[in-house]
Amino acid sequence: MDAKHLSVAERLLDWYDRNHRSLPWRSPPGAPPPDPYRVWLSEVMLQQTQVATVRPYFLDWTARWPSFAALAAAADADVMAAWAGLGYYARARNLLACARVVAARGALPDTEDGLRALPGIGDYTAAAIAAIAFGRRAVVVDANVERVVSRLFAIGAPLPAARPAIRAATDTITPDDRAGDFAQAMMDLGSMVCKVRGPRCLLCPLRDDCTAFRAGTPEAFPVKAAKKAKPQRFGTLFWAERDGRVLLVRRPDKGLLGGMRALPTGPWVDSDPGMEGAPFAADWRSIGLVRHGFTHFDLACTVMVADAGDEPMQGEWWPVAEIADAGLPTLFARAIAVVEGMR
Ligand code: SF4
Repeated sequence: MDAKHLSVAERLLDWYDRNHRSLPWRSPPGAPPPDPYRVWLSEVMLQQTQVATVRPYFLDWTARWPSFAALAAAADADVMAAWAGLGYYARARNLLACARVVAARGALPDTEDGLRALPGIGDYTAAAIAAIAFGRRAVVVDANVERVVSRLFAIGAPLPAARPAIRAATDTITPDDRAGDFAQAMMDLGSMVCKVRGPRCLLCPLRDDCTAFRAGTPEAFPVKAAKKAKPQRFGTLFWAERDGRVLLVRRPDKGLLGGMRALPTGPWVDSDPGMEGAPFAADWRSIGLVRHGFTHFDLACTVMVADAGDEPMQGEWWPVAEIADAGLPTLFARAIAVVEGMR
């Protein structure tokens, strides 16, 4: 067919066949779909996390737990520790809950509705798994697709109100065949060509279809609603050491970083909580500050250290020399860097 008469999907799939990213959870273009376990795992890991960060986690994880059954049989604490550093820890708890449901029922459901009923699987993830693992036609819209489609159609409403219009526009270009390849092609185009800043329009297979390109304004889309500043909260982290070991606690299952191993901390509140939450009275010394951005607030924590002496207290005494193996979330890993910097 004359290139001018190809549909958006045909142009994009042709580009994907030659330019796709090779990723450990993918099948090559046109090949049979990958193992649904690997598709599901990668999609959950990729929620709010970059490909480069996810890749080593995915490889370690699949070597250790290669199937739903293997993951379902894992100890909760091992799974939470293996997830440390990926952030958004509710995902790890849901991942384990989902693996146990799937292992009990025998297989992952192959429809969007069936997938959406599982823990941790929302509209986007259900659509992505249905398309990529099961070849079903599904409208898959992640942040990359949002950007490409809002530019292709010059959708002027601001996000997030524009989402229904973006989804409807994506529906008009989604093909019946090669649905999984199409979804991955859109993701690759958004990541490699239709970039947030400096889109490489002259290399883009959809240039002739793109309203924003013709208008010379690709970077004006997607239109974003003005961002509200995140509130600032404050906290204190406590490093209590004795005989080469540091005191660690397990955070409550509910709430931020739930179920994760952690340094003891007080509350995270609007003004400095001082020594509230200290595991024992001692000569605590402040050695620095760590900052971490959560979804709904920014946190600044003072790091306090003390010698624990013979204080009786609840928790685990973890060897300081092996602290990297404790599976601590990023906030606490930053505090450790401060402690190590003072040694
Ligand atoms: Fe994005 Fe430019 Fe391609 Fe339009 S032409 S889809 S703005 S890269």
